[in-house]
Amino acid sequence: MEKILIKDGYVITMDARRRVLRRGSVLLEGNRIAEVGEEVKGKADLVIEARGMAVLPGLINAHTHSPMTLFRGFADDMELDPWLREKIWPVEAKLRAGDCYAGALLACAEMIRSGTTCFADMYFFMEEVAEAVGESGLRASLSYGMIELGVPERGEEELRKGEKLVREYHGAFGGRVLTMFGPHAPYTCSPEFLRRVGEKAREYGVGIHLHLSETEKEVREVRERYGQTPVRLLHSLGLLGPRLLAAHCVWLDGEEVELLAKTGAKPVHNPTSNLKLASGVSPVPLMLERGIPVALGTDGAASNNSLDMFQEMKFAALIHKGWERKPTCMPAGRVLEMATLNGATALGLEGEIGSIERGKKADLILVNLRQPRLSPLHQVVSQLVYASSGEVVDTVIVDGRILMRGRKLLSLDEEKVLKMADEAASRLFEEGDFGEESRDEWLELEEELEKKKRKKGKYRAVYRRAHKGT
Ligand SMILES: [Zn+2]
Repeated sequence: MEKILIKDGYVITMDARRRVLRRGSVLLEGNRIAEVGEEVKGKADLVIEARGMAVLPGLINAHTHSPMTLFRGFADDMELDPWLREKIWPVEAKLRAGDCYAGALLACAEMIRSGTTCFADMYFFMEEVAEAVGESGLRASLSYGMIELGVPERGEEELRKGEKLVREYHGAFGGRVLTMFGPHAPYTCSPEFLRRVGEKAREYGVGIHLHLSETEKEVREVRERYGQTPVRLLHSLGLLGPRLLAAHCVWLDGEEVELLAKTGAKPVHNPTSNLKLASGVSPVPLMLERGIPVALGTDGAASNNSLDMFQEMKFAALIHKGWERKPTCMPAGRVLEMATLNGATALGLEGEIGSIERGKKADLILVNLRQPRLSPLHQVVSQLVYASSGEVVDTVIVDGRILMRGRKLLSLDEEKVLKMADEAASRLFEEGDFGEESRDEWLELEEELEKKKRKKGKYRAVYRRAHKGT
């Protein structure tokens, strides 16, 4: 078993005592953390000198839509409704398996570069997303986004696809890929459908990932249609519980916050998306005060437009200070908890990731503290939350494997990923601008992807074949 020693770093453990070791070391054995402390003995196959570096748990992006990186910057500064109807949905209708694979790879590259080691994803063509995650070396909890629209036949088909992902990919890639059921939202899925999803999730022992009370309009519509707010509706259907991952949770009343606390449901805060789409401000400080472990997510790159969790932490801290006119309401340490420990709890992985502790999975990142934007070093956690961006990350390790070192990606060929994403975007947004030959290559790639065999490295091989000489 390979041993890696991370030596003499500024270790932010996020353990129960929130210990910060000014000169600490972490020993990794295989995919686990074997030891953490000021004096770590034992021989290692590889020593990473971490002097001048912060060592912290990998960040957890608890809500995103990875293939939407292809939509980055395509339609900004619009109202939510026309944004969805006129821009996003028409292009989504053109999406094919190869596009989602390329978009997911692009997202993985961006996440590794900005210190995210695990993410919760919901979208279409999730088998291809799973393959991209497998290749990238990241950890993820994936769900197929089911949109039933109250049409029973459509619901059957959607549920079948959601179930297929769970059956085939839960625990794949040495346990790095996990799955959930992903009914899109209470305004796109009927109560009867949601109830069935609840039963399925219990049957498979997996969580449910959905959007909840994101906009005022959604709450109004659900109340008009079903006579109660989305949170109460989910409660009446038996869906509120510890394995419910609920993105946004912006429009909540006090009673609903209590319901979330009582049932153990897991809200995910997406401050940038909420600001950009002008959805509103989620009562995060209140939820945290009530003991709810609110996690943090970027949402998709169409509504952010970045997957940088450092940026997200800063927004999460600032939005509430400004909104409540109370600079003490979101301290930096609490925000870092949201991006690490709470993310792990939200994904049901609190025993495995989220902190640097003996026995946990070896998912951690090294941040280069020796640079102008992080100097001088009064409070390391403050520097990480208020003065950083993803660019400060030097090294990323997931499951004991080094995915980036000295800002160079090791698990993915960045140039190839960028090229694939460009090609997918030009096919989607500029039909006809792609050239006959390239289109044939894409069709070939997609045909192969459609076969959906779970064979390691298959997609890379297919890609290579489709782009001979590149
Ligand atoms: Zn979302």
